[in-house]
Amino acid sequence: MPSASLFGSLIAEFIVSAASPNQFPSDGLAEIAFLGRSNAGKSSLINALIGCKGLAHTSNTPGRTQTINFYRLTSGATTGLDACYFVDLPGYGYSKVSRQQAEAWKKLLENYLLNRAPLQLALVILDARRGWMPQDLELKRWLEAHHRAYLVVATKMDKLNQSDAQRTLAAIRKEFAEPLACSATTGRGVREIWQAIAKTHHSSR
Ligand code: GDP
Repeated sequence: MPSASLFGSLIAEFIVSAASPNQFPSDGLAEIAFLGRSNAGKSSLINALIGCKGLAHTSNTPGRTQTINFYRLTSGATTGLDACYFVDLPGYGYSKVSRQQAEAWKKLLENYLLNRAPLQLALVILDARRGWMPQDLELKRWLEAHHRAYLVVATKMDKLNQSDAQRTLAAIRKEFAEPLACSATTGRGVREIWQAIAKTHHSSR
């Protein structure tokens, strides 16, 4: 699906919704993973980065998806990337899922993060109004323990006034992470996230 994006000739395609590792793509292209609590704004951010509104599914029934969705991005001269996958992992922290479902999600996620060779960077998406929640911190520590590169993104910044925005960013920094402030609604931070992705991509070559 060709999409008009900030980045010129970016082509984004939905490839697969995988329920188990044998369904993951096998071409070895670099992968950028998107992680976050249900409703944090992950799908909206993916769509904003791709410049295409409906590609990643935004939903008001959080916690339903227990699959890993792969989107292949091609070209995009100004992003500095040739091709890569955006990997949308199921949102966590939705209180209405059963314990069994929550365990199954955790297993799928950990399996992907532990074993996936093409994974280059994980974006941990926080709702700026909430900042770190316990499961976000657990994930952050887990990524560090397993030496996975990650970036923290504070999204929905448009919902905060200036002083709340400063406060939330300062609280996020207290956990030794420099957040990228963004908004899927206004497009704030989209360029910076792309630059950070491209930088990781180049440094891992
Ligand atoms: P996901 O469950 O993490 O994929 O979250 P979604 O992307 O579906 O977003 C959850 C809700 O927050 C939806 O109603 C979105 O429209 C809204 N939302 C997401 N990002 C933003 C943002 O940057 N600004 C505003 N104002 N709303 C947002």
